[in-house]
Amino acid sequence: MQIVNFELEQELWMQEGACAFADPDLFFPVGSSMKALKQAAEAKAICNECDVKLDCLEYAIRTNQDSGVWGGTTEDERKSIRREYKKTGTLVAS
Ligand code: SF4
Repeated sequence: MQIVNFELEQELWMQEGACAFADPDLFFPVGSSMKALKQAAEAKAICNECDVKLDCLEYAIRTNQDSGVWGGTTEDERKSIRREYKKTGTLVAS
């Protein structure tokens, strides 16, 4: 029997995210409606005040998070960042 420790999957920076008490729906807007765009913009504003923004973005790139707002970026914005990361191994975020 395999015992899985879910705590191991948590990274320390996650405990310091500015989104800890924010509405999770903001970070996972559905579709491209005006409401979804407003949610993403609100999420990104929270990310821009977050002390662990770069850790979060690096995690999202490294673990291929393909939905939601992570590290102040939407999934579309992460595509080019991910391409550069695969080529250079470094994060180039705007
Ligand atoms: S960068 Fe954004 S999504 Fe990541 S931990 Fe901070 S507030 Fe949350």
